[in-house]
This record gives sequence, structure tokens and C-alpha cells, in this order.
Amino acid sequence: MFEVFCRDLGLAECDFAASAPSLRKLEYKMLEHARDEHPQLIAGITEEQHEALMTQIAEAAHETAVH
Ligand SMILES: [Zn+2]
Repeated sequence: MFEVFCRDLGLAECDFAASAPSLRKLEYKMLEHARDEHPQLIAGITEEQHEALMTQIAEAAHETAVH
């Protein structure tokens, strides 16, 4: 599993952590959370900024042990 914290994306006051079996799904989950909880983070971002956010999520992701 992969895991990423909202904090890793610069939102210090948010405790949300997303986990998913693949980076692709992790990015999707994180985006979904951002859309619901931090709409200002992704409102009106360009394709380029979207790519940068995906990269940031992938870089911040930790691989966790599979149980
Ligand atoms: Zn959050």
C-alpha cells in the first residue's frame, strides 16, 4: 500500500491520510479529498499545476507494508 498525508502537501492543519494499493489510486484519492475539503487548493488550477500536484503526491507517498 501507498500512503500520503495531506500535511505532506503543505496543509499543516489537516490530519487526513490517503492510502491506496497503487500510486495512481493514491493520487486519485488525494485529489478527491482535496476537492471535498480543500477546494481552494485545486480550484481553477492549470494542467501544469495539476501535473505538479500529482508529482508532489507521488514524491511524498510512503510505501507501507502489505498485511
Ligand atoms: Zn486535507
